[in-house]
Amino acid sequence: MSLPRPSGRPRLEELEESARRILVALGEDPDREGLEATPRRVARSLLDLTDGYGTDINVLARGALYAHEGTEPVTMRDIPFYSLCEHHLLPMFGRCHIGYVPSGRVLGLSKLPRIVDAFAHRLQMQERMTSQIAEAIEQLVEARGVAVVVEARHLCVEMRGVEKAESQTVTSCMLGAYKSDGQLRAEFMELAGRR
Ligand code: ZN
Repeated sequence: MSLPRPSGRPRLEELEESARRILVALGEDPDREGLEATPRRVARSLLDLTDGYGTDINVLARGALYAHEGTEPVTMRDIPFYSLCEHHLLPMFGRCHIGYVPSGRVLGLSKLPRIVDAFAHRLQMQERMTSQIAEAIEQLVEARGVAVVVEARHLCVEMRGVEKAESQTVTSCMLGAYKSDGQLRAEFMELAGRR
């Protein structure tokens, strides 16, 4: 499952030129001292913040899938993430809680935050990111069930004063056993601190 950028390779120079044009359009002087290096910095940081497009989830998990007989749920909570909303290119960030019920194998724990990053580091919608993370884990681990809850703050909402500051948006995706088994789901929600 490769995650290519929707339309090919990004171009640093083009991003830089575009950032310069934004400065001009804002009425700024892009050649003044404080802004001289800004277009290049903006271009580089945008590339860094969207490097998840280049991540292949199967490569990421290679060598980290282990045979495991147990069927007790695995839960990791409070995985921090930073993303950009695709509507305003402003930060959305927060925490992700993941649970899955193994059926024959488990994924090395350090890979869960990396899977979150692979989907967070691109232009995103919180709802889509939540289900992408769940579906990736379901596919990799062939889990009997996967639960993902994402709590996020959206600076496009907070900075523009659309909502009260520090409001949180919570999204969830329940697959397999977490969807059909209310008790399993309730236990996950409790472990994730969401009761
Ligand atoms: Zn937004």
